[in-house]
Amino acid sequence: MITPTVPQTFRAIDVIRKKRDGVELSRAEIESLVNAYTRGDIPDYQVSAWLMAVVLKGMTRPETAALTDAMLHSGEVLDLSSLRLKKVDKHSTGGVGDKTSLVLAPLAAAAGVAVPMISGRGLGHTGGTLDKLEAIPGFNVNLSVTEFRRVLELCGCAMIGQTAEIAPADRKLYALRDVTGTVESPYLICASIMSKKLAEGIDALVLDVKTGSGAFMKSEKDAAFLAELMVETGERMGKQVVALITDMDQPLGNMIGNALEIVEVVEVLRGGGPPDLRELCLETAGWMLHLGGVSKTVADGKQESTKLISSGKALEKFRQMVELQGGDARIIDDVNRLPKAHHTAQVQSVKAGYLASMQCEQIGTACVILGGGRERKEDSVDPAVGIVLHKKVGDRIEVGEAIATVHYNAEAQAVRARSLIEASCEIAEVAPSNKRPLIHRVIGRSGDKN
Ligand code: URA
Repeated sequence: MITPTVPQTFRAIDVIRKKRDGVELSRAEIESLVNAYTRGDIPDYQVSAWLMAVVLKGMTRPETAALTDAMLHSGEVLDLSSLRLKKVDKHSTGGVGDKTSLVLAPLAAAAGVAVPMISGRGLGHTGGTLDKLEAIPGFNVNLSVTEFRRVLELCGCAMIGQTAEIAPADRKLYALRDVTGTVESPYLICASIMSKKLAEGIDALVLDVKTGSGAFMKSEKDAAFLAELMVETGERMGKQVVALITDMDQPLGNMIGNALEIVEVVEVLRGGGPPDLRELCLETAGWMLHLGGVSKTVADGKQESTKLISSGKALEKFRQMVELQGGDARIIDDVNRLPKAHHTAQVQSVKAGYLASMQCEQIGTACVILGGGRERKEDSVDPAVGIVLHKKVGDRIEVGEAIATVHYNAEAQAVRARSLIEASCEIAEVAPSNKRPLIHRVIGRSGDKN
């Protein structure tokens, strides 16, 4: 029987219904949906419904691959082959207080690895690299591809957001997912991250997949599933990919909020900073240097990174990148030049004991409530607000002692944020017996390395 050649007209509603009913979508349907949305031919509300159907019904591997490819090819795929150095990037699935990218790009560049980094904004309760960079007065994350290439050639690293040229589909979908409760899908996270990373023209990628109460993947099993999905996707495209499953059961470091996190980045690049943040930066840098071919082993890469911090070379690289991207590099020597909130208030413990746990997602939400993240797509963020933690899980605490300080610009928001932080901290009489590791597992080419 000859199949009638009816012209295939794409209708968003058909694709939404199919996904809602758990039917596998074809590559052509996924491509049509992504392309139509990127062009502005279908409205946010239809794509929101489709995204929610994906969250609820999941995706097959061929669907995930098709979505990643469609998002990747919604824009330009950079050809950086003229750059002599190996190009390695890192990306985190998102956390609270996670400012490692801002340390890692200049650190790896100082070691002789090129880092062409395309990042995202805050998503849900998590912070975003672009919002943090924009806390530096004048810093331009919206470079054209030509300018991006120039910065990369001059200093070895450059940090931008998705442009109209690079993975524009992710830029639109990311903003929509942020405000429609459709972030927590391994398939959507994989396509989002891998489409922009694969568009960068990299040779290798280190993924930081978070697990715990502040991560999108709360359980280690879900984090490992996402890690494997992303490693497989990257390898399918001929890239070297390794994924570190790292802890996000409490915020990373002590500062949460855009300008505050820049302060901590500068501290780490100066050889200080909180131990957990420093350790994760060094471990991830070790992998970047190893995959970038400048260190024989990860341990050598870690050692080299420690030296680059002690010698001040990593900090100087950060300064150079900030200057080249139009930022006020004077903030590096005087962090008081960063935006500052008008008020501060403490969250004090009403009990004596030990900080047994933190609901890390709620701490991130408290920062969003203060204005450090977005409640709606069109919201702008306040770079100055945030939270400084004085206690980490396992620490002793007395009655009336400060657990955290809230930096705020609006009283009503501060009241809500403070009570959320208070409710998120569990104080117990005895210290927690088992400390969660910072790095849970490494998933890479030859499978689980730990
Ligand atoms: N980071 C991204 O870039 N995309 C996601 O979907 C989640 C974290």
